[in-house]
Amino acid sequence: NLVSDYYLVNKHHALTLYRPVKPHAHKGTQGHALIIGGSYGKIGAMCLSAKAALKSGCGLVTAYIPKCGYNVLQTAFPEAMVLTDGDEHITKIGYELQPKAIGLGPGIGQHPETQNAIKEFLNRQNVPLVIDADALNILAANKEWLAQLPENTILTPHPKELERLMGGWETDFDKIEKMKVFSKQHNIILVAKDAHTMVVYRGSIYINSTGNAALATGGTGDTLTGIITGLLAQGYEAANAAIFGVYLHGLTADVAVEETSMQAFTAMDVVNYLGKAYLKIE
Ligand code: AMP
Ligand code: MG
Repeated sequence: NLVSDYYLVNKHHALTLYRPVKPHAHKGTQGHALIIGGSYGKIGAMCLSAKAALKSGCGLVTAYIPKCGYNVLQTAFPEAMVLTDGDEHITKIGYELQPKAIGLGPGIGQHPETQNAIKEFLNRQNVPLVIDADALNILAANKEWLAQLPENTILTPHPKELERLMGGWETDFDKIEKMKVFSKQHNIILVAKDAHTMVVYRGSIYINSTGNAALATGGTGDTLTGIITGLLAQGYEAANAAIFGVYLHGLTADVAVEETSMQAFTAMDVVNYLGKAYLKIE
């Protein structure tokens, strides 16, 4: 049982998940991703995340941000549509559109009004959902909200966020056992980010083989949220979006560093090298 529970996600595995763009696709069939986040001083996280979503291949991206980020986002990323609410943080989450997938959390902060907005939002959610960053920290502080999450919601914690969500661990095996219990208990998909990111889904562990320490720089997690949300919007099933998204995200760093160096690689290079990463898969 120990053996059959583990999968190494290499190129062969990634190819079984990969969905090429169909010749008759149009922006309507490629899926609409909604990314919700941003606060004063953290609008860049939303630029990174929204851009990564679009470059993962979805048809449309809407960024839902506080008003202070409006000009920044529209200028940095003219392909996105923008909805705003609140001056410097998100105060309620309301919109008319019907996105195919939602990413929640990049740069969102932990303002009490934002916490309330997230509570209300989770109460009425049924769209495929990725939760990251301070939205995870807010969840960790209100664990009873975990019961509201739609089945197969994807959580993407880094080690600190994971510890806040499910408590600490002693050994790697202990960590894995706890992740299995946590993901089963709440019917969620856990993406435990690290040098070797693991996706935990229904008791199985998918260990990623791409990526390198160039990713150890601010904002790379926001690009992963965007990529996974963009894949969900394109119709990838939740677990496949998580597994393939993590692989693709790591691959951008592997192809980039030959040109950028390890040191000069930044989070926007994940976005810049998404094209070259896709070409490696095809
Ligand atoms: P965050 O901490 O939310 O910005 O996320 C950081 C991202 O970079 C995650 O996807 C990590 O898996 C990835 N990452 C960070 N450090 C490394 C590393 N040394 N090797 C591979 N991936 C890394
Ligand atoms: Mg992060």
